[in-house]
Amino acid sequence: AKEKGRNNFQFFTEDMNKLAKETLFLENNLRKAIDNQELALHYQPQVEIVSGQIIGMEALVRWHHPKLGIIPPNKFIPMAEETGLIIPLGKWVIHTACHQNLQWQKAGLSPGKVAVNISPRQFRQSDLVKTVAQALAASGLEAKWLELEITENVLVDDLTPTIAVMEDLNTMGVSLAIDDFGTGYSSLNYLHRFPLSKLKIDQSFVQSIGEPMGKHAIVEAIIALARALDLEVIAEGIENQTHIAFLKRHGCRYGQGFYFSKPLPQKAFEQFLLRAQQ
Ligand code: C2E
Ligand code: CA
Ligand code: CA
Ligand code: CA
Repeated sequence: AKEKGRNNFQFFTEDMNKLAKETLFLENNLRKAIDNQELALHYQPQVEIVSGQIIGMEALVRWHHPKLGIIPPNKFIPMAEETGLIIPLGKWVIHTACHQNLQWQKAGLSPGKVAVNISPRQFRQSDLVKTVAQALAASGLEAKWLELEITENVLVDDLTPTIAVMEDLNTMGVSLAIDDFGTGYSSLNYLHRFPLSKLKIDQSFVQSIGEPMGKHAIVEAIIALARALDLEVIAEGIENQTHIAFLKRHGCRYGQGFYFSKPLPQKAFEQFLLRAQQ
């Protein structure tokens, strides 16, 4: 038993070591990735469920590492948050998303709004409002075509400064959506005090639709809550007809998920927009 225990321990430390090395390696590389143009945005359409009309898209970052290939955001966004690299990375994302959206508008593609993910650390950074204003000015995109997705964690911070940032963004004309709604710790008590436009029903709830232990009641409750607070509601992670039927029946207006399209690279998304116009 002792032998076995020791082996397990060795195995464990080797694993830890590997993870630490991997993190350090990625961190060093991510610093260069922005300059070396290794980052790219993919775009996933957001759709009005009943009409099928495209109302916009979510921008999702990808890292094309020259040696490791595509690294998904879950592998480097948390690390970027911890190290602060999320600030330059996030700026790049906002600038690129605004620029791309305007290019599509100019090409007559009716892209709708672009939604950009903002991590809690980015939101708390004092110059987020300035960063957004600069991206809009530099790209020439009108503010009404930009939406920021923040998570509930941001809402549990000190109320007054949080609301102040949101109001600055709103005044500018930028809209705000709460991402992964229902998975965080925000208080329903306060929700009406934030100048929000939209709730995004978390994909874990959506994907449970049709399953025996499905969270149907939660999905219904979020849709009802959005209606009561006069907010738009979008379901994310929609994968099949069962999900669609339930969401339609309960009056969820907007949707996003593999059922409509996976996140697509720029060129492929352009094709998607073109086909939608025909
Ligand atoms: P998220 O904001 O909740 O984005 C939705 C994730 O679900 C995306 O994963 C998307 O590809 C995936 N997804 C969309 N539809 C479906 C579906 O029908 N089924 C399933 N199984 N998955 C679906 P992705 O692109 O890997 O992004 C993961 C997370 O990384 C995002 O979650 C977001 O939190 C973060 N992220 C991505 N891009 C950025 C960024 O530019 N900035 C920041 N701060 N975070 C980002
Ligand atoms: Ca999101
Ligand atoms: Ca989400
Ligand atoms: Ca998520």
